[in-house]
This record gives sequence, C-alpha cells and structure tokens, in this order.
Amino acid sequence: MINRVLIIGAGGVATVVAHKVAQNSHIFHEVMIASRTKSKCDDLVKKLGREDFKTAQVDADSVEELVSLMTSYQPQLVINVALPYQDLTIMEACLECGVNYLDTANYEPKDEAKYQYSWQWAFHERFKKAGLTAILGCGFDPGVTGVYTAHAAKHHFDEIQYLDIVDCNAGDHHKAFATNFNPEINIREITQRGKYWENGQWNETDPLSVHQPITYPQVGPKESYLMYHEELESLTKHYPTIKRARFWMTFGQEYLTHLRVIQDIGMARIDEIDYNGQKIVPIQFLKAVLPNPQDLGKDYTGETSIGCRIRGIKDGKERSYYVYNNCSHQAAYQETGMQGVSYTTGVPATIGAMLFFEDKWQRPGVYNVEEFDPDPFMKYLNEQGLPWHEEFDKDLEL
Ligand code: NDP
Repeated sequence: MINRVLIIGAGGVATVVAHKVAQNSHIFHEVMIASRTKSKCDDLVKKLGREDFKTAQVDADSVEELVSLMTSYQPQLVINVALPYQDLTIMEACLECGVNYLDTANYEPKDEAKYQYSWQWAFHERFKKAGLTAILGCGFDPGVTGVYTAHAAKHHFDEIQYLDIVDCNAGDHHKAFATNFNPEINIREITQRGKYWENGQWNETDPLSVHQPITYPQVGPKESYLMYHEELESLTKHYPTIKRARFWMTFGQEYLTHLRVIQDIGMARIDEIDYNGQKIVPIQFLKAVLPNPQDLGKDYTGETSIGCRIRGIKDGKERSYYVYNNCSHQAAYQETGMQGVSYTTGVPATIGAMLFFEDKWQRPGVYNVEEFDPDPFMKYLNEQGLPWHEEFDKDLEL
C-alpha cells in the first residue's frame, strides 16, 4: 500500500511539516505540497532536495479547485496547514473525494474574529458515514496540550479538576515587533476577549486584563496573560470533571505596547475600508508590512516552554502534575530553517499524520486529539524533536 499525503499551505508550519514528512519517508511514500502560491511550494521542495515531492497551485477557498486536485492526486490524507479560514472548504472537498483530514487550528470566519468547534464538529456524522477520519487541532496548542491532558487522565488521575495551559515564548527575534505565526490570525486571537471555564460556565474578561507571573522551567518567572484558546472548548467537553480550565500566554511589555498602538490606530480592523477607491482590510495590509514569521528563525534565540498544569484526584488523594516541553528556536532553525513556534506546530501535525497511516489514530468521524490514545503520540514526541518532562506534586502557582 502506497501512503500518499497532500500538504495544503506552504508557510512556516507547512515548511516544518514538509521537513518532518521527508524525514519519515518510510511512512509518507508519496507527497504533494499545494498552496495558493505554487512558487513557494517549488522553493520548499528544492530546499528539501526532494524533487520527487509534487507541487500544485490551489485556492483552498474553492471546494471545486480542491476537488479537482484531490481527484487527480488521490491522497489518503490531507494535512491542512493553510489558514483556519480554509478548514470547512477543505473538509467539504475531503468528503466529496473520500480523503481523510487533519488540521492545526479550528475554523473561524474571515469577517468575524471568533473561533469555535461547532462548525467542524457539525461534519461528524458525514465523516462517520463516509468511513473517513478527521483529526482536529493537531499542533501544539491546540494539539500537544490535548494529548498531555489525555496522558494525564489515562496515567496519573482518576479525576482532573483544574487545568491550566501555560504557554511561554521566552525567545528574542531581535525585531521591534513581529508575530510568530501568521500575523492576521495571531493578532485576531490575542485582541479578543479573554474567557475561561469555571464551575460549569464560561466567564469573560477584558482582553489581556488578567495576568500574573508564572515560573517556567529554564526560563524563570514571566508575566502571563489569561486568554481564550480553542482547546478549552473541547477539553472541558471531553473531561466534564474539570471545574476550572484556563489558558495563559506570556507577552513582553514592548509587544503589548505595539499591539495597543496597532489597535488604537485602527490597524487591527478586520472589516474592509475604502482606500483610494480600493477596498483593503487594515489587518491584511499590516501583515504585508510586518516581518514575515518565516524569516525570524535565523536570529531567534531562547526557547518556548508550553505545558499543562493539572490538579485532581488519584486514589482518593489530591495530586498536582506538570507536563511540558521546552523548544529551542535555534535548534528548530538548524533542523528546518523555521523558528520554534512553527516547529512546535509542524512536528505534532506530522505525528498525527504518522499515527493515521499506522492505523493508530483512525476512526470514522470528526475528533479532537484528546479522543485518541495518547501513548503512541507521547512516544513520537520524544523521538521527533519535542521531548516532554513531567513533575509531580509541586506548587503549580495557579
Ligand atoms: P503562514 O501564513 O506562514 O502560511 C499559511 C499558508 O497558507 C501560506 O502558504 C498561504 O499561501 C497559504 N494559504 C492561505 N490562504 C490560502 C488559500 N486560500 N489557498 C491555498 N493556500 C492558502 O501561516 P503559518 O504557517 O504560520 O500557520 C499555518 C496554520 O497553523 C494556521 O492555521 C495557524 O493558525 C496554525 N497554527 C497553529 C498552532 C497550534 O499550535 N495549533 C500554532 C501556530 C499556527 P500564500 O503564501 O500564498 O499566502
């Protein structure tokens, strides 16, 4: 059986996926990279030295174009590392062509900065009926954070009660302001209202208004801001014993000042404005002038540290548990030419695809990562460049 995979997108995350797929050619026998700009796919294949990888141009907003591409290439799996806007069109095309699906970020409409799983979960019955698997949110967060939680639930807790996902980027790219992944998606995410789960309901906070220092391994204390993040929705659904679930991310003062100015002067707007008789979306224009996240790797120093801090019950006793990974931007760059944020997203996406082809993560329907067996994924994390560490019964600070 020939395993044939179609990677959609040719940005920072796709570059890491392509490297990892190339390193695991015993699983990925035939590969195509397709994106809006074909020359980026060609450059990537050239950089990899893998002229056997095919490339194609596709507008992933068009079901018709996707169907035509999938019909001619006949992949078993699509790894969607384009943008969250394309999730639904790609899922629709997968159904039409009998192709399985994996992504790293949940759908959000272009005209509203709001993401929720309902749109993609609504495909469940259709995927199930078609005998196709869809794996949602298989990056780091969401992705590894869900697998960490599943691992904790399987091996260390009878009941998970408190979950804090802590995401620190202690790296320095030596630019005045830059985002670590697609600026449009990133700024939309950070400027929305905060939200966390407590005692059976969602509580909202003003954007970045709740913060406290949290100490990260090998990094030290960093001011961390409460934000809404998509895995909170699926994890509170799949682990109903959770009393409180929150997500924290670190930001430097400089970053926050730039962000405030960007918002104050209207450059974070996602609606169309008229400029010299032409319609432009300010945040898309901003993306065009900001540093490209893919070019940050060379001078990026420091590391990321992302993990889950969990409290709950094991054998009738309270227990606390911390599982995390630290990823060096320089090491990621040496291996793939991309910085740590693209790396920590692309490696888990590739692992999810490996487990799909090994029949370990295959089940007809639409699933979040925590619904699959975490064990083979945790094993691959150690082998594929994102080793994890765990600490028991220490002060979690939260
Ligand atoms: P980039 O902007 O670097 O890359 C996006 C790619 O998608 C580009 O190659 C772009 O093409 C392509 N693309 C955009 N629109 C279309 C379209 N209509 N048709 C075909 N291709 C299209 O983004 P990143 O690589 O940084 O991020 C990729 C994904 O990863 C995003 O969905 C992001 O949200 C997600 N992510 C997930 C994380 C996680 O931990 N779960 C963390 C970080 C990112 P072009 O070059 O022509 O613009």
